[in-house]
Amino acid sequence: MIRSEHLAALESEDFDICIVGGGATGLGAAVDAASRGHRVALVEQEDFAKGTSSRSTKLVHGGVRYLKQGNIPLVMDALHERGRMAKNAPHLVHDLAFVIPTYHWWEGPFYGIGMKVYDGLAGKLGFGASHCLSKEETLERIPTIEPEGLAGGVIYHDGQFDDARLAIHLAMTAADHGAKLANHVKCTGLVKEGGRVRGIEAKDAETGRMFTIRARCVINATGIFVDDLRRHDDAAATEIVAVSQGVHLVLPKEFLPGESAIMIPKTADGRVLFAVPWHDRVVVGTTDTPLRGKALEPRALPEEIAFIMIHAARYLTRDPGPGDVLSVFAGLRPLVKAGEGTKTASLSRDHTILIGDSGLITITGGKWTTYRKMAEDVIDRAQEVADLEKHPCRTEELPIHGATTEEIPEIKLRPYGSDTAAIRALGEPQRVHPGLDLSVGEVRWHARMEMARTVEDVLARRSRCLLLDARTSITAAPVVARILAAELGKDSTWEWAQMNAYTALARGYVFGDPASTG
Ligand SMILES: Cc1cc2nc3c(=O)[nH]c(=O)nc-3n(C[C@H](O)[C@H](O)[C@H](O)COP(=O)(O)OP(=O)(O)OC[C@H]3O[C@@H](n4cnc5c(N)ncnc54)[C@H](O)[C@@H]3O)c2cc1C
Repeated sequence: MIRSEHLAALESEDFDICIVGGGATGLGAAVDAASRGHRVALVEQEDFAKGTSSRSTKLVHGGVRYLKQGNIPLVMDALHERGRMAKNAPHLVHDLAFVIPTYHWWEGPFYGIGMKVYDGLAGKLGFGASHCLSKEETLERIPTIEPEGLAGGVIYHDGQFDDARLAIHLAMTAADHGAKLANHVKCTGLVKEGGRVRGIEAKDAETGRMFTIRARCVINATGIFVDDLRRHDDAAATEIVAVSQGVHLVLPKEFLPGESAIMIPKTADGRVLFAVPWHDRVVVGTTDTPLRGKALEPRALPEEIAFIMIHAARYLTRDPGPGDVLSVFAGLRPLVKAGEGTKTASLSRDHTILIGDSGLITITGGKWTTYRKMAEDVIDRAQEVADLEKHPCRTEELPIHGATTEEIPEIKLRPYGSDTAAIRALGEPQRVHPGLDLSVGEVRWHARMEMARTVEDVLARRSRCLLLDARTSITAAPVVARILAAELGKDSTWEWAQMNAYTALARGYVFGDPASTG
């Protein structure tokens, strides 16, 4: 994806559908529409997956929590989507075993039956059968689980993925099917003709240039910000999105050696908590805190960090201390409001599509796991609203860019799938920093083919260094800035500004740094 070429097309061509927002929802819609043969434009104000879509728990799941709430259709849809994602993106989604440790005699049969229902709902797209474990088998799977009072466990299977990398691969899939996309381009307003939305006003953040994108309809896929764009359309529009924050801590792998994750179905205050092995680290979370403010860079609250630290200590043999935390990251869920004063844990996790009087289509809610189904639904509606030729959805079996069944020996290159050979051919396998598993060749690839424009684009989302080790990633920023400057034709002033901007951002992910808590 060469940004200048995509930008030139966005400015000069006419489109059927213009999508605002480059998270899971917008990118999924771009893939769906482009693969049906529509002319598609997409703009993202910062970077693909800069918002909520890079800050998830990294699970492709039906949601045991929703099973608990009795939301069977949501769980079933999500389990079917889980199976499709694993088939269409085998380089980015894989099976993961989860162990529910049990500390009371009744928990084994209780969760055992629940997980059998979960298996059954997945049908033919199931990942593997759940079963009960003895205390010894539980300790074998999770040697670091708190043994005192342990009765046994229940093991079940779900999916795991790299969220930001899937977003980048969705952008590339959309581009492969002819969509024109640009990151660092903000939608600043709507273009209307005769009361109907016929495009957007856009601003390129790199140059400050304003331009118009003409389209037969516009899809608002801006996540927690959907109400802002709805108010550009109709100043009196009432808010439909409430925000709930979820925080994760990243710990070294020794806190959870082995291949299995831990799932705590009910913490002391009734929440679900995960400890998940991910890229040779452990991700622990999450929280569910209703917030009033909306930010692209949300910060963990001290009480959210304390909650995770206390629970990690309760279920693991070694208590994590502040020095163990490699990164703290927060994300904001866009939840569709049922009415004022509703608690976020009970708001809808399902998606909602709204059509304004002007034809502006807004889609929000849902989850990463259901992005494909959300895209199918919204493009079905867009075809009606814009009176486009009715093409059927093709994404149920559409491979995502890079999909391959070939075995890739280098673990860190696996997420690139079939692009691995091209990355290897660039050479320069030396690391950008001895403490980070990121090579010079990969950074060049990010800049040349994946539209990386800033140090943050590389260290936060093309690679996941920011989440895997925030402090070390800061020391790698000068090298990454130098490589990017050479690739993008920038000077030393740009390099310097990039290093400063990245340092300021990444300090917000360093445990204990004053910048890291809200
Ligand atoms: C803590 C947490 C854990 C989660 N864990 C999971 C999980 O394990 N599995 C799962 O399936 N789901 C999970 N989810 C849910 C999932 O991450 C979200 O449902 C999904 O990422 C939402 O994607 P989105 O595209 O709607 O929003 P976003 O990813 O926020 O994308 C919206 C984009 O729009 C852009 N934008 C906004 N305004 C403009 C504008 N004016 N012009 C251009 N661009 C604009 C933003 O910059 C942003 O990038 C989790 C969510 C949270 C918060």
